[in-house]
Amino acid sequence: ALITGILLNQDSFHRPETVSDPDSGIMNEIRRLSEHTVNQIAAGEVIERPASVIKELVENSIDAGASRIEIDVVDGGKKLIKVTDNGIGIRTREIKLAFEKHTTSKIEGIEDVYSLGTMGFRGEALASIASVAKVEAVTKHRESESATGSRIFIAGGKTIYVESTPAPAGTSIKVMELFYNLPARKKYLKKTSTELKHIIEVTTGLAMINPGIHFILKNNQRSIFNSPSCDDGAENLFHIMGAETAREMIPVEGRSGSVVLKGFIGAPSVARSTRSGQWFFVNGRPVRSKVIKEALEDGFKNVLMRRKFPAVVLSIKTNPTEIDVNIHPTKKDIKFEKPEGIYAVVFEAVTRGLGTTGISVEKQATMVSPERAEHGMSPARAEELLVDAETSISPLQTTLMETASIAGGVAPCGPVREGLAGTSFKVRPKYYEDYCNNVERHHLPLLRPIGQIHDLYILAQDGEGLVIIDQHALHERIMLEKVTEQYNRRAMAVQELIIPLDIKLNTAQSAVFVEWKGKLERTGFGIEHFGGDHYRVRHIPASIQLREAKRLVLDIIDRLAEGERDVELEEMEEEILKMTACRSAIKAGERLDRDGIDTLLSEMYRAENPYFCAHGRPTMVKLSLNELEKKFKRKV
Ligand code: ADP
Ligand code: MG
Repeated sequence: ALITGILLNQDSFHRPETVSDPDSGIMNEIRRLSEHTVNQIAAGEVIERPASVIKELVENSIDAGASRIEIDVVDGGKKLIKVTDNGIGIRTREIKLAFEKHTTSKIEGIEDVYSLGTMGFRGEALASIASVAKVEAVTKHRESESATGSRIFIAGGKTIYVESTPAPAGTSIKVMELFYNLPARKKYLKKTSTELKHIIEVTTGLAMINPGIHFILKNNQRSIFNSPSCDDGAENLFHIMGAETAREMIPVEGRSGSVVLKGFIGAPSVARSTRSGQWFFVNGRPVRSKVIKEALEDGFKNVLMRRKFPAVVLSIKTNPTEIDVNIHPTKKDIKFEKPEGIYAVVFEAVTRGLGTTGISVEKQATMVSPERAEHGMSPARAEELLVDAETSISPLQTTLMETASIAGGVAPCGPVREGLAGTSFKVRPKYYEDYCNNVERHHLPLLRPIGQIHDLYILAQDGEGLVIIDQHALHERIMLEKVTEQYNRRAMAVQELIIPLDIKLNTAQSAVFVEWKGKLERTGFGIEHFGGDHYRVRHIPASIQLREAKRLVLDIIDRLAEGERDVELEEMEEEILKMTACRSAIKAGERLDRDGIDTLLSEMYRAENPYFCAHGRPTMVKLSLNELEKKFKRKV
């Protein structure tokens, strides 16, 4: 596969549609492309944006044995990227060579590729970068006795000058005006904050896996990232993820054959609503891998709600011959020779790690996963039943049938029993008025609660059979309508916090925060910067319980970061409102007494659209007497 990768690459040099150079010529004639064009095409594959330049430069610095790497960018790297290291440096006589295509000090032949220990080896990063930007490198080899090193300046692949210059040992490479000679690509660069977010992501990944290296990242001279060198993985996490998350990380380990796994998995309490907290490394490089992702998610399956993703840092060391890192030029996607082995090691380490949190997986499963309990009913079926509930029962019918007996097999439970012993209401339920006032509008039947099961579903009887309500889904819908209404009136009900909540945001999160501060304010969250990575939450929407606030704020910021690229601004506000509604709602696993159920039903009758939750799942399903009769074979 490795060799195919390289061949494919060469093949792409002849794809006419990717050739932008004017001398690329007429269709029928076969010509050799200029080296410059070849470099530009290669650059197109490797260099996508400022973050990819940084990845290549920093990987080179790591390979050069640097213990300190400083990354300075201006305007999210669009104007300037500068990477300075204290690594071995480049010898004066080799400086020109380093920027030529297929020059590398790292391999000699194809065999070396297999046993490779270093980060990059394609020998084309510097040449590619120099073909699409203006590059200045200053370097001096560590072993050089003299105080002078060399400086080279290249623009659009052309060496403008090489000169000697006083320089400290190490290498400093400046990349200016990326894509200045490829306007079509330059156009695709995103706004500064987005590019910066990618840069922070790349740097974070590299810093995580290299705890011994001191990383510094600055944008427009402002320090946004600083992870001092330390020899302990856990301490390194502290610097990078922030104390709050790091404290909830559980160390994991595993080994099988040549595969050795080490890392940390986040307890369910720090799960996020995106995958942004997941880091996989193989032999020291950040990678994407389907099999690791699957093993991880399977390991967490019963512990997390759907659309919740664990924070993890997993580092796998394996025999380099068992991986193919070169299937993609940016070296991110990785394929294993024996994926089953990798799956098993990751899955076992995760499940074992979770066992140490002291909460049994089964317990959590019943607590947090509302959609689990559809009990095999397909969504289509559930919807069918709903339509039934919505259209075919007249309120009159319902009242007439109120004397129908409670469906067999379901025992009335707990506090709900009072007032329900008879066949009709002894006392008018407190939601009766809300029912009468709204029945014309949505034709919900008058319900008589039987009780709550598994602290999650409310069973109720209507004139036609049994209605099962998902308490969380229904309440979430109700809360969504409430907060949306307040939002539309520009009158979010908020609660001022007497003692402001302290939160810590990592650099990626704070970049997003700065961008979305206004939106957060409009949706009820008053947050301000308090110095360093500290932020203070001064007010939150009134519907949120204090103990939910911190998690919700962090979830929202993660969601904003994830959605930023492709979602309309209005949709983001809607998303914040949805997340707020979800956190404000009665949870799965919360016990409700009769009064709580009655209140919920009152709100249900008043709601605009009580049939579906904020995410489009049904809030209630119905089992008609008819169906029960069929099930019990009373009738065929
Ligand atoms: P590769 O990393 O695949 O070898 P590059 O184009 O990234 O190819 O780099 C070419 C060569 O330049 C490297 O092999 C290395 O010898 C030298 N080089 C690049 N960056 C540095 C650096 N920061 N310090 C020392 N040498 C470097
Ligand atoms: Mg390289």
